[in-house]
Amino acid sequence: MERLQKVMAEAGVASRRASEKLIASGHVQVNGKTVTEMGIKVGEHDEVVVDGVPLHQEAHVYYLLNKPRSVITSAHDDKGRRTVVDILKEEGVEERVYPVGRLDYDTTGILLLTNDGELANRLMHPKFEVEKTYIAKVRGIINNNDLKQLRIGVEVNGRLTKKAKSRLIETDHKKQTSLVKLTIHEGRYHQVKLMFDAIQHPVIKLHRETYGPLDLHGLQSGEFRELKQDEVKLLK
Ligand code: URA
Repeated sequence: MERLQKVMAEAGVASRRASEKLIASGHVQVNGKTVTEMGIKVGEHDEVVVDGVPLHQEAHVYYLLNKPRSVITSAHDDKGRRTVVDILKEEGVEERVYPVGRLDYDTTGILLLTNDGELANRLMHPKFEVEKTYIAKVRGIINNNDLKQLRIGVEVNGRLTKKAKSRLIETDHKKQTSLVKLTIHEGRYHQVKLMFDAIQHPVIKLHRETYGPLDLHGLQSGEFRELKQDEVKLLK
């Protein structure tokens, strides 16, 4: 989140001082509401409009990344760690894209990045319920009852998770681990790890295979590609 006048200045609207004047005199709207007080902070998902002109008039772009481990899912990191947006920037992407939802630092797999705030907000809204498939390597041997629990719902932070799909891929009795495919429609914070914690099979490794209609076909870890127009349409 950054101060509105700074965001305006960085977008090339006017100097910071001049932007403050524009705000004070009622020229600026944030998410449809005119703001005149100073100090308001806005984030990537806020729609800033100056004199009826949206701040980010860049053409919308949509990228699909196969996120590697040890990368932060955000546009900036205060501790200077590499972010998913850095990966795109390093390869010459210039638009101000940001991730749709998040994968943990140690989670790998499919992640959508875009500068289309409206679509991003919709996809992240619980009502929209984008289906996501994860492959989880977990401690212990998963049995049918565990799979059923995951399907019908487990308690996470005092609330039952919604119906899910679960399937055992394989077990390793020597190492006492299991590989499970889990498909969920929610996106609560650390949801998959917390679901497996709830059935006493903590996650060792987590990978997201699909996001709605999209999969990682042809993308190695760390690689990304632009979505095709018909793929974008599938998301809308
Ligand atoms: N659930 C998690 O626990 N972690 C992720 O990265 C994604 C879903």
